[in-house]
Amino acid sequence: MSKYNAPLTDMRFVMFDLLKAEAQYARLPGGETATRDVLDAVFDEAAKFAEQVLAPLNAVGDEEGCHFDKTTGTVTTPAGFKQAYAQYISGGWGGLTAPEKYGGQHLPESIGAPLKEMLDSANLAWGMYPLLSHGASEALKQHGEEWQREVFLKPIVEGRWTGTMCLTESHCGSDLGLLKTRAEPAAEGNGADGTYAVTGTKIFISAGEHDFTENIVHLVLARLPDAPAGTKGISLFIVPKFKTGKDGKMRERNAATCGAIEHKMGIKGSATCVMNFDAAEGWLIGPPNRGLMAMFTMMNTARLAVGLQGLALIERAYQNSLVYARERLQMRSLSGAKFPDKPADPLIVHPDIRRMLFTQKAFAEGGRALGYYAATLVDLVERSPDADERKRADELLSFIIPIVKGLLTEVAIECTYAAVQIFGGHGYIHETGIEQFARDARITTIYEGTTQIQALDLLGRKIMQTQGVGLKHFLEEISAFCHANAQNAALAEFVAPLAIAAKDWADLTQAIGKRALANPEEVGVAAVDYLFYSGYVALAYFWARSVAAADASAQSGDFKQAKRSTARFYFARILPRTLTHAATLRASAESLMAMPDAQFG
Ligand SMILES: Cc1cc2nc3c(=O)[nH]c(=O)nc-3n(C[C@H](O)[C@H](O)[C@H](O)COP(=O)(O)OP(=O)(O)OC[C@H]3O[C@@H](n4cnc5c(N)ncnc54)[C@H](O)[C@@H]3O)c2cc1C
Repeated sequence: MSKYNAPLTDMRFVMFDLLKAEAQYARLPGGETATRDVLDAVFDEAAKFAEQVLAPLNAVGDEEGCHFDKTTGTVTTPAGFKQAYAQYISGGWGGLTAPEKYGGQHLPESIGAPLKEMLDSANLAWGMYPLLSHGASEALKQHGEEWQREVFLKPIVEGRWTGTMCLTESHCGSDLGLLKTRAEPAAEGNGADGTYAVTGTKIFISAGEHDFTENIVHLVLARLPDAPAGTKGISLFIVPKFKTGKDGKMRERNAATCGAIEHKMGIKGSATCVMNFDAAEGWLIGPPNRGLMAMFTMMNTARLAVGLQGLALIERAYQNSLVYARERLQMRSLSGAKFPDKPADPLIVHPDIRRMLFTQKAFAEGGRALGYYAATLVDLVERSPDADERKRADELLSFIIPIVKGLLTEVAIECTYAAVQIFGGHGYIHETGIEQFARDARITTIYEGTTQIQALDLLGRKIMQTQGVGLKHFLEEISAFCHANAQNAALAEFVAPLAIAAKDWADLTQAIGKRALANPEEVGVAAVDYLFYSGYVALAYFWARSVAAADASAQSGDFKQAKRSTARFYFARILPRTLTHAATLRASAESLMAMPDAQFG
């Protein structure tokens, strides 16, 4: 059965040697307590929880799934899930980065990144429950009135309640402008008591019903009467499972019920619910008709969290592939037996097995640097006392998020499939636990905005609508790095191609921008290739930085050499993928768009 060991050495390397997170924390309000001693202890404890409590439940969750009782409308989670949640809460993990005022420890958001990675590597399905609570907490923190935070945020931080995000309806997923759920001011006093009656059906709602906690806070997108059509007429409502008023007292059951759960390809231990709202009592959160904007402000953290899910699965796939490739004996090395005393050589001697292992390692460690970097930007956006620094970090973060989410989840599919391939037939059968990772990874490119939506966000909004301000900041960082290391002979093999890739990225962006001004269809035509292209160049930057940081660190010689070797692999065998994407990006829209739909057959 597949194992998990938290990669603490690399996590610490990325946080402290590469990103210098400790120095950043020291100058941010609330970060003073995040000293190296404290963080080391936090990471050690999180690793124990992930390895010892969550990882053993991963296969259990996959095999058992969740159970729905039609007569009571209740959901039972797989054996051990509820107890693990209780342990998570008693360990204080739920409130790690939440404000102290609402019961949290107020540590910087980026400290949550390694924690999320560990939880998701150990058990992605279980990790969905805290992930959704975190999303709901962010919405309440940023948009709730003070009483709403007291009444609804506090119990979530304390772990007594959980949260959900209710956006999707059967006819609308990517296009939320189509949503029909409605909210009417409550008849009594014409809404004077502040409540609304929320009516509609939401589908695919993660953690919509479960047995972890006494109450669930649903954040529901709905339309007010006479709201404008489309995305400008959507408002956000708090709809608790048990009615809860301003006094914080839980009353009778609300008409917010689970109608069914989905049977699905992966993350089977995560309850994916049909939620029926039948004039359920709700409270408006944020201004009317601004619900989608409220969702957008917290999308950075939610999309980052799903990018980290991709990273988590790559890491888990890599660890298991590596162990197997060392143990499994098949055929001899092409250059002669490497282990003549054994009946055959281990898989790891074969070039194509090495290619797959290196690909997993390069995306795990490079992806960790990229994902944690984005998380440190969240800290600056939320906490920097300097307005200019906040603005720059915000522009950079908005730009990098679709890349983190889009790329890391797409390559998670590649890497988890590579694990199945390395295990051969033993990866395809259920018992080894390897095919579960491939099935679990598949959803990550779909929810929280599909890859296509991330790509359109990147090119259409973050580049075209802002004149590429975030890209400019990022290219400035790359340029500063290349400049600072121009005379560093040990880095020349990475700095020179990185500088070329960065220049090509800027040129290509300009060329696409010009074509898009003439024909808006060009954005959709180019978007996904542009997302991959950008992601591969961004990872090249983090690989070059990783070698520089490793060389300058007190890490072991083997660690430094492995970073350099993996960077060489990345630059020689992954970065050239940009050439294919660039060729496709230079092709006009015609080959894709000219043929009439009817001729597809
Ligand atoms: C397990 C699971 C958990 C989920 N959890 C939640 C949750 O907690 N809360 C919630 O609200 N929702 C949740 N969802 C829903 C999820 O967010 C949606 O499935 C997702 O947004 C896609 O919407 P859709 O399925 O309707 O696909 P559609 O929007 O119909 O898209 C179908 C395909 O068309 C593509 N597409 C759509 N528009 C364009 C375009 N303009 N250009 C190019 N391609 C396009 C999409 O990328 C996709 O490939 C969950 C779904 C699943 C399966």
